[in-house]
Amino acid sequence: MTVVMYPDTILVRFGEMMLKGRNRRRFETSIYQHIKRVLSPYGEIEISFDYGRIFIEGLGSSYDQVKGELSKVFGLVSFSPAYSTELDVEAIQKQALALVQSLPQMPATFKISTRRANKKFPHDTYETNNLIGGYILDHCPGLKVDVHHPELELRIEIREKALLFSEVEEGPGGFPLGTNGKGMLLLSGGIDSPVAGYLALRKGIAVEAVHFHSYPYTSDRAKQKVIDLAQKLSEYAGEVKLHLVPFTEIQTSLNSAHQGNFIVTFMRRAMYRIAQRLAEQQGALALITGESVGQVASQTLPSMNAIGQVVQIPILQPLVMMDKKEIVKIAEKIGTYETSILPYDDCCTLFLPKSPTTNPNLRVIEGIESTFEFMNSLIEEAIEKTETLVLRPGIKQSVEKELEHLF
Ligand code: ATP
Ligand code: MG
Repeated sequence: MTVVMYPDTILVRFGEMMLKGRNRRRFETSIYQHIKRVLSPYGEIEISFDYGRIFIEGLGSSYDQVKGELSKVFGLVSFSPAYSTELDVEAIQKQALALVQSLPQMPATFKISTRRANKKFPHDTYETNNLIGGYILDHCPGLKVDVHHPELELRIEIREKALLFSEVEEGPGGFPLGTNGKGMLLLSGGIDSPVAGYLALRKGIAVEAVHFHSYPYTSDRAKQKVIDLAQKLSEYAGEVKLHLVPFTEIQTSLNSAHQGNFIVTFMRRAMYRIAQRLAEQQGALALITGESVGQVASQTLPSMNAIGQVVQIPILQPLVMMDKKEIVKIAEKIGTYETSILPYDDCCTLFLPKSPTTNPNLRVIEGIESTFEFMNSLIEEAIEKTETLVLRPGIKQSVEKELEHLF
């Protein structure tokens, strides 16, 4: 009879809403594949489904690393590291005691909660609770039972084997990867848009990214920053396509045609038009951006209205009601913050007027814009010259190597 000292199994729970209706198989398949992918570096791992839950076995002693990977699997509500033991009362008692004794601090109170999925086990849940609880009480002086508010709830699952666990880790929640269609993320080098991309992915929306650069006004380092951010997102998505759109011509032409305070509005309208075209090409059904109301001149409601009018597909703005502090917190958690704060300017700071308008009038904007005869052909040209990279986790791409042929 052996007592295992590390959790060799993980019990994973996912949301109830996923169990209902015709989506269930699709959701399960996506979660299964996602777990398989993130755990593949850890050897031969077995994954099995049970209604609403997944069991991951064969972990060896790699739980601590695996735990970090599982927190990237969208749709997971929670998971628990578990210790497996043979279906034998004495074995379960010994394993339960080892688990209690391995805690950093002995709790004052505990309870046992048994769930008996395998009805061949001769003891019902009540008996099992008593058999295991009594053994622990005998071996841990001072420890008491509290069935209402125990400090430690030791759970036992009776299956082919017995599984013992007490910890419950929160998962990222959301929907399984890619189960809610695809969106085109407008990815700048800032703090916000990578967070918007992450939140879209968490909702099960597959993401492709588009970035507008103004080479040579913007540097290679600014572009590298965006590539690195897209790669960071690929750690969650598995793969992220990044479309790099040359935006210099459009910006310089706009700047020659109009020196007023509306230039940012025109610029943004051009970006949205191009992004919508790329979305159509790639089968994406929405744009995703990092706007948050009030943050800058182009993010007042009148600006957002004047800019959003140029596209027909939905514009998803997951951060629209969040404060910067909340956004930064997510950026730090998902690992994009450090890259985002690198001080390399992107194209938005180019030709920025002293006081960009916060209250553009749509009719006025449309009136002036209709005189920009160069616009349609420049948009076509920018789309034609767009380059696409595919980013995957762990495979770093650098501007010098990948993009030198562009210039
Ligand atoms: P971020 O932190 O994402 O850069 P921001 O607060 O700096 O956002 P803006 O510069 O007004 O805000 O940009 C608003 C949104 O427009 C961005 O979140 C992003 O989705 C999109 N965007 C801005 N610049 C670019 C760019 N160069 N390429 C692609 N998308 C962009
Ligand atoms: Mg920005």
